[in-house]
Amino acid sequence: MSSKVVTRFAPSPTGLLHVGNYRTALFSYLFALQNRGKFVLRIEDTDKARSKKEYEENILESLNWLGFKHDEFFRQSERADIHKSYIEKLIKSGHAYVSKETPKEEGDRAEVIRFKNPNKKVKFNDLIRGDIEFDTTELGDFVIAKSMTEPVFHLVVVVDDFEMGITHVIRGEDHISNTPRHILIQEAIGAPTPLYAHLPLILAPDRSKLSKRKGALAITEYREKGYLPETMINFMALLGWNPGTDQELFTMDELVKTFDLSKVQKSGAIFNEEKLGWVNKKYIEKMTAEEFREEAKSFLPENLREKSEKLLPLIKEKINKFSDIPELFNTELSFTKGVPDYAKESLKWRQEKDLVNTKEYLNLVLEKILALEDFSKESVKSALWPIAEEKGKGAVLWPMRYALSGRDQSPDPFILAEILGKDESIKRLKNALSKL
Ligand code: GLU
Repeated sequence: MSSKVVTRFAPSPTGLLHVGNYRTALFSYLFALQNRGKFVLRIEDTDKARSKKEYEENILESLNWLGFKHDEFFRQSERADIHKSYIEKLIKSGHAYVSKETPKEEGDRAEVIRFKNPNKKVKFNDLIRGDIEFDTTELGDFVIAKSMTEPVFHLVVVVDDFEMGITHVIRGEDHISNTPRHILIQEAIGAPTPLYAHLPLILAPDRSKLSKRKGALAITEYREKGYLPETMINFMALLGWNPGTDQELFTMDELVKTFDLSKVQKSGAIFNEEKLGWVNKKYIEKMTAEEFREEAKSFLPENLREKSEKLLPLIKEKINKFSDIPELFNTELSFTKGVPDYAKESLKWRQEKDLVNTKEYLNLVLEKILALEDFSKESVKSALWPIAEEKGKGAVLWPMRYALSGRDQSPDPFILAEILGKDESIKRLKNALSKL
């Protein structure tokens, strides 16, 4: 490419942006990185009534968490003078005019600034959708500003893209119908037309438009649920693009190498939450014990935060996202909090006819455990395995596991013993025996 590539992400801070908006940011960022170009972040906050500082902060926080670094930052509201000068210029050159209006509703203006539509065909080549032709006649003389100091989106987006030297406008398909207006304004102010790439919409699994109600969350909400930034990037990259191979997991570096804007699909991309969970699980598997501990900490029951070392590998295997952790402590890991009261019949292995063997084997287990010095799961296992092999694995290990956990579903009994420690294990075995 001869001139330096400059892309931008131009969000409007009028609400919490969802994952679809950040997919746009990702594609723009990747394209800039691939071309050693620049990535501009422009907050489009000209709609004063709807723009809120907290939403802008959320955008910055989200981009920062994802690790996207912009080279330049602009806030449209701080560029009012520039926008005004362009309105004046357009009026002076006859491309726009002050138009007297008949207000229809309260709040309507008696005067706005309209663009003088040359009523012609505009054609552009979209990098994703190919040639697009549009007859602008049907747009009429569209409004470009509500007053000299209140430009609307169409004007500011064109002026700012021009002033910021944007070479590639990568944005959602919902803007495709705006592009003919933008091209007319570009021609009027003498700006080159950037290359356009309109990204496919993101759809809910039922193919309706993705919305918050359909499960799309803000990036920070995914963070709070315990999804990793690597996951979000990987997942978003595959919303509308695929490498044409079987590869499904991509680091940012791999995406910079592999991503290809021209291979982005035209049809809507389906948002599949199950896939998101799968990707996150894969990234969780890749975490070191230390990284995992750090991330898991705040999701653990408070009393276990300092002594969760042995539980962590177990947790790591079971979750898709960190917010799955609390529920684990109500189910499979509830043994860490104690044993619920249970009926003695629960201790009986399903192939036993009564509780005679159960009692005998539990006594054997207790005896072995009492004699153990080293209480690692390996050591507990090697002490008990011969009995289990001789008497039957289920027959010996089911009552032990039940005694230690008080539940049908729990980790294996050696892990239980290790995590509970010798004293607590003995206590729970004795408690079980006292029922028999
Ligand atoms: N501010 C616009 C939006 O949030 C984006 C405009 C553009 O990318 O051209 O939809």
